[in-house]
Amino acid sequence: MSAVPGGLTTPEITVVGSLNMDVRLTVDRIPRSGETISATGLKRSPGGKGANQAVAAARLGRRVAMVGAVGDDDAGREITARLVAEGLDVTSVAVSEHPTGTAVILWEQPESTIVIEAGANADVDESFVDSRDSAVRAVTDAPVVLCQCETPLGSLAAVTRLATGTTILNPAPAIPVPAEIRDRFDVLVPNRFELATLAGADEAPESLADVVAMVRGLAFPGDVVVTLGADGSVVVPRDGLPTPVPAVRVDAIDTTAAGDSFCAALADGLLRGEDLVGAARWAARVAAVTTTRDGAIESLPLADEVPAALP
Ligand code: ADP
Repeated sequence: MSAVPGGLTTPEITVVGSLNMDVRLTVDRIPRSGETISATGLKRSPGGKGANQAVAAARLGRRVAMVGAVGDDDAGREITARLVAEGLDVTSVAVSEHPTGTAVILWEQPESTIVIEAGANADVDESFVDSRDSAVRAVTDAPVVLCQCETPLGSLAAVTRLATGTTILNPAPAIPVPAEIRDRFDVLVPNRFELATLAGADEAPESLADVVAMVRGLAFPGDVVVTLGADGSVVVPRDGLPTPVPAVRVDAIDTTAAGDSFCAALADGLLRGEDLVGAARWAARVAAVTTTRDGAIESLPLADEVPAALP
């Protein structure tokens, strides 16, 4: 474990990303425009793709640094306390003048429909990263840096400029990340809808052959892992043949954070020296366990809760 100024240890994984308070309403169906319906349940918990991926990696045993922002409000304090309790380095979690990001989730088990107010997450741009020594160090020194698209594109640009380790982009939620930023990452991990958005396609690819063709059409210079929900994932290396990785069969009750735990476990596997296919197999196991549990952060497993052989 190497020491850095300030007495902290160098992270193994740095996550630059969002911190939200999730407000989840359980619904029987999504209301029509203008309609009011009753929820059958309410759950409020820390979330955001950045927080989910950071906590997922910490629970797999990694030293994780979080770069992000919360508001000067109860939600922000609750999220930060939670990250600390999970063992994360929060030196680079700033307190913004904007409110903590909020996600309103309409949960029709097992799928969700989500509306996000970015709030403080919108502060996390290129100058946010550049102006904080702790953030620059965390991004520069970590062997793996994980990003998503719930913070401004400038944060991604800063990461690709500063990072010396492996950079992984989970381009979620689906936005058309410009090629000049996207192509500077080492690994892309989209789901099929995010892949279609990156490719400028109207419809998500259905068959494995269509997925692979769409990936090849991106001409991404690095490796791509496309997640396919209950159909597993496919590893499309920059050179070489694509390898499908099956999902692990489980009774999924809530797929929230499946993609987040997949990305964190992929990073964990790569750090262990696995190749991308090996890391994706491990990620499939971790993500499968996540889908058998309710909630986002609460559903993320510890490494020893992921059985070597799931049914
Ligand atoms: P996202 O949540 O980002 O859309 P996916 O739905 O593709 O991501 O899920 C990510 C990974 O989680 C999949 O590649 C798969 O390994 C696992 N997964 C998702 N849904 C299920 C499921 N119903 N059963 C087992 N594994 C699942």
